Amino acid sequence: MADSFPVRGPAAPVASTGDHWVDHEQLCQQIEELRRREDATILAHYYQDGEIQELADFTGDSLQLARAATRVDTSTIVFCGVHFMAETAKILNPEKRVLLPDLRAGCSLADSCPADKLAQFQQQLREQGRRFQTVTYINSSAAVKALSDWVVTSGNAEQIIRRVPEEYEILFVPDRHLGSYLEEVTGRRMILWPGSCMVHEVFSVQDLLRLKRRYPQALTIAHPECPANIREHSDYVGGTQGMLRFVGQLQEPHDLLVATEANMLWQLQRKYPQHRYHPVPGITCACNKCPHMALNTLEKLRDCLLRGEPEIHWQESFDRAGEVLRRSLLE
Ligand code: SF4
Repeated sequence: MADSFPVRGPAAPVASTGDHWVDHEQLCQQIEELRRREDATILAHYYQDGEIQELADFTGDSLQLARAATRVDTSTIVFCGVHFMAETAKILNPEKRVLLPDLRAGCSLADSCPADKLAQFQQQLREQGRRFQTVTYINSSAAVKALSDWVVTSGNAEQIIRRVPEEYEILFVPDRHLGSYLEEVTGRRMILWPGSCMVHEVFSVQDLLRLKRRYPQALTIAHPECPANIREHSDYVGGTQGMLRFVGQLQEPHDLLVATEANMLWQLQRKYPQHRYHPVPGITCACNKCPHMALNTLEKLRDCLLRGEPEIHWQESFDRAGEVLRRSLLE
């Protein structure tokens, strides 16, 4: 099947189909052909490489992509993001085929809250006679969502927290930084699960302060998954969509120091090129790219369309997770 694609000589080799090398343009052309042949829609998260976002039918944050997945009219969805996102797309579209270019694209935050540990902790709270509702960040497995009362994204978390009746305590899982940010903005105390995102956790406050000295007029924007010491030095804290809105309403060109996954700068630059963007570096990695998202490449995108796998298959927990997701995100 691979040989049916046009192949050229060894110039600018970027990927192979069988024994042949193809360049970037040919690779994009192959994806185009396969997208049509397989009746597929490509969704890409803002944390994917720019070249993947470039050819996606729809780009967005977790909330936008979950909603977009319900409006897709093709029989196949290729989800360029991480596993829990593709799983969410499948839960909301049981009849569609959902492909993920690399099945190993996981998430450190989702991994920090295994379903059996959460069930155990919830049982302990019940035995103590505590009345609580579980509010779960969308960065979690379907099995964890199935144990929850609500699923939130950074875009709608505040709104949902305010809907939980006062007589209930809130158990917030799995991101402790987003949880503590929500405690600050809603004034609601919560029981926080001790999870975190490996990308947002490691922003260096020293480097942020150094950048602020270098660009004294700059505005700092940070994702609420960042620790409090980064958030407290920021002019705006919000999810990816909120960041785009904040930057979009700035009248004059600005220097912006950005504390979130590095690929988000591509989307900011594309939408609002009048500003200058400076990534806030991390302690362990200068670029702060999510290594899980980075597992998806153009080559793997083409190959999953070509082979029809890896595919997300229906699991038992998806029924209950679907009820919670629809109530939280779509109604
Ligand atoms: S950036 Fe963090 S929360 Fe997002 S997928 Fe990567 S590890 Fe998970």
